[in-house]
Amino acid sequence: MSHTSNIKTNPDACPLAKKCGGCQLQNMSYERQLKWKQARCEILLKKFGKVDKIIGMENPYHYRNKVQTAFGRTKSGKIISGVYQSGSHRIVMVDSCMTEDEIADKIIVDIRNMLPKFKIWTYDEDKGTGFLRHVLVKRGFSSGEVMVVLVGASGYFPMKKKFTAALLEKHPEITTVVLNINPKDTNLVLGDREEVLYGNGYIEDTLCGRIFRISPKSFYQINPVQTEKLYGKAMELAELDENTKVLDAYCGIGTIGLVAAKTAGNVIGVELNPDAVKDAIANAKRNNEKNARFYCADAGDFMEALAAEGEKFDVVFMDPPRSGSSKKFIDSLAIADPKKVVYISCNPETLARDLQYLTKKGYKVKKICPVDMFPHTNHIETVVLLSQRRPDTHIDIKLDLSELDVTAAETKATYQEIKNYVLDKHGLKVSSLYISQVKAKCGIIERENYNKGKEGHRVPKCPKEKEEAITDALKHFNMI
Ligand code: SAH
Repeated sequence: MSHTSNIKTNPDACPLAKKCGGCQLQNMSYERQLKWKQARCEILLKKFGKVDKIIGMENPYHYRNKVQTAFGRTKSGKIISGVYQSGSHRIVMVDSCMTEDEIADKIIVDIRNMLPKFKIWTYDEDKGTGFLRHVLVKRGFSSGEVMVVLVGASGYFPMKKKFTAALLEKHPEITTVVLNINPKDTNLVLGDREEVLYGNGYIEDTLCGRIFRISPKSFYQINPVQTEKLYGKAMELAELDENTKVLDAYCGIGTIGLVAAKTAGNVIGVELNPDAVKDAIANAKRNNEKNARFYCADAGDFMEALAAEGEKFDVVFMDPPRSGSSKKFIDSLAIADPKKVVYISCNPETLARDLQYLTKKGYKVKKICPVDMFPHTNHIETVVLLSQRRPDTHIDIKLDLSELDVTAAETKATYQEIKNYVLDKHGLKVSSLYISQVKAKCGIIERENYNKGKEGHRVPKCPKEKEEAITDALKHFNMI
């Protein structure tokens, strides 16, 4: 399916779209964009199950809470700021963008206009001269806190005090200003060194009732409105309770794990980027969360080590980068054997590949739910629930008590009541098949085929521990 169709159905189509290349779908109305994403998900994922209707954004504009702008000059010497033309290092001047936070855009334009007065030169990549390379603005969606990061080619910034004061006067909503020093000839925006010029050097924001610290380098979802919907869906599918043990793999600054920790009994997070792990640990403290621990490691190595130690989880959230997860991670995940896996993906192609492998490893896809995190772009986010395909869950047994040759005793408790009792009292999930086997053993008449399972299927035998629990339930209900 092509998204380069020329149907101009978006009344707000962007005049810079071709040069910028950031909003691949901006020529479609939002409704059509959602249909395009839905269809794309269905093509890639329908073989695993029904794809739910994509969760769209009510007001799909100005959602980006992080705006990053390159600074430079035209040949005639005019200062410009904007994005690199797609596939080049030429800057396309951008004053405002339909996806970006409007306050952030205004701050950037004002900084550009202030530069001559403070004799601040923009950096020239070819000559390696000048100072200002980029400006990065991050804004807390619910807190309203604003961070401005000036990226300079060196730490030599004689006008820093006066410039910061003038910027704050123009934009009192700014809560912190940081100078990031990046002297390297690199495509990376941020360098290693930082100097805080005003405020704390970070901002905080609230997401799903938790407070998160956002520093210049830390990864934070760029669309908080939709992130709340995405995480909300992930938590709903995970069905956590105070006994649930959770792994948050590819955890970034710990957002998913810390939201889960509000309900779950125990959370472990793993992440490769050491700065993000530091933020995750600080976030756990900030939220006074004692049940969450974060580790810096490759998720595959970490999972392998945990599986080797026999560590078990009830729910694993995995939110890998666009390249998806690794075989090593999934192999070890299957050994650790969580009941549920909630896979959050930003790339349906690698998601399809990983689901194929997870399915081979004995998991079954239960729910596929796309969420539009990046309106106007061709990026698609999806949350998928998988659960163990166990003998006691995948053998279909139809039960119709009215068909049964029931004795008076059998009428005392339904299969569901027995299951609930066993789960509550013994913490065990038991199938109807097991219940019927135990009933038969106890002399309660069962129709024969309930003990056989489906034709051609191996019939699993009720394990001892479950047999004892079911026997206890039968006693409890005075059935034996
Ligand atoms: N769950 C977080 C972050 C998701 S982005 C959130 O919702 O905000 C994916 C994260 O995976 C990034 O933070 C990236 O640093 C991390 N990552 C990439 N490769 C990894 C690996 N091999 N092992 C662990 N983490 C990895």
